Amino acid sequence: MKRFLLHVFVLTLSAVMLMGQNKNKTENFILVTIDGLRWQELFNGADSSFLHNKKLVGNYDQYATKYWNKNQTDRRKMLMPFIWDVVQKKGQIYGNRSIGSFVNVKNPYWFSYPGYNEIFTGFADVRINSNEFGPNPNVSVFEALNQSPEFKGRVAAFASWDAFNDILNTKRSGLVVNAAFQKLEGLKSNNIALMNNMQTKLPDIFNGVRLDALTFYMGFEYLKEKNPRVLFLGFDETDDFGHGGRYGDYLNSAHYTDEFLSTLWNWIQNNPTYKDKTTLLITCDHGRGEGFDGWRSHSSKTAHSDETWLAVIGPDTPAVGEVSKGQYYNNQYAKTIAALLGFDFKNENDVGAKIDLVFVK
Ligand SMILES: [Zn+2]
Repeated sequence: MKRFLLHVFVLTLSAVMLMGQNKNKTENFILVTIDGLRWQELFNGADSSFLHNKKLVGNYDQYATKYWNKNQTDRRKMLMPFIWDVVQKKGQIYGNRSIGSFVNVKNPYWFSYPGYNEIFTGFADVRINSNEFGPNPNVSVFEALNQSPEFKGRVAAFASWDAFNDILNTKRSGLVVNAAFQKLEGLKSNNIALMNNMQTKLPDIFNGVRLDALTFYMGFEYLKEKNPRVLFLGFDETDDFGHGGRYGDYLNSAHYTDEFLSTLWNWIQNNPTYKDKTTLLITCDHGRGEGFDGWRSHSSKTAHSDETWLAVIGPDTPAVGEVSKGQYYNNQYAKTIAALLGFDFKNENDVGAKIDLVFVK
């Protein structure tokens, strides 16, 4: 019994949410990650030299029609129209290095688990040096929120990659986590019954990764039926298609993930529980390299793969559009998320400062 009490005590100390009066309009929060999607495609659209390379794109004409235009502004909008039509007008987009806006990871490894640990806990942990690290010893901002009475049981995560049960330490945190091919139970929706069935009958082409459309629609049905206050949607295909050197599929995946975001935001802005009370933050866990070989890879051995980006839209966030200067880091998201919901988040190590520009002065 003593050990149990001590454990709870240590846990409480290791991540603290201090609640002030929430002066923000944000009552609900949604985090979306698009694994290893490069800032180069987000801000510039499809890369001409990759599109024309038959080793990366088998059917140039098909992809050129969908994603190529000589004008950079038109081209990036062809790839991710929600980002460039909606977030650009009503929110903020960080990380266009060609205009002096920089976002990087702080961890020294530049791959997924260390990247997600940094996003969720607010600090880079050098101990986390493998995607097979196992249960995360660190407490995430989601776990800390779930310990507060008003968020208890109302924080959920849907992810394509099976590692999220470890990253968010489902056993300890008690969060609702549905990752890879886990069956989703407890919903009335017939769509969920269909997707539970379908996901066991599709090829496991990426080894432990559910296709992103299933992750999105399962998470979306959960949102509609259970009305969580905090939701994570973790998409993965962009990284897998990148590693596979399949540039056309990588572009398609970025494009339909953007469509998921549009579907999600339209629903939010037409639902009285969420409308004008919800902030959406979209980012990635690492970048990728440059050039024919480099873009497929990411790690500390691949230059530039620590370069990331961030997009935010919500009722407290001034409509700045493309942020034109500054240096930001992925370790700043956890404190920013907590602050939007009226909490001050502290962890066992120092966490990155909240991003002030996200908040109305
Ligand atoms: Zn990754």
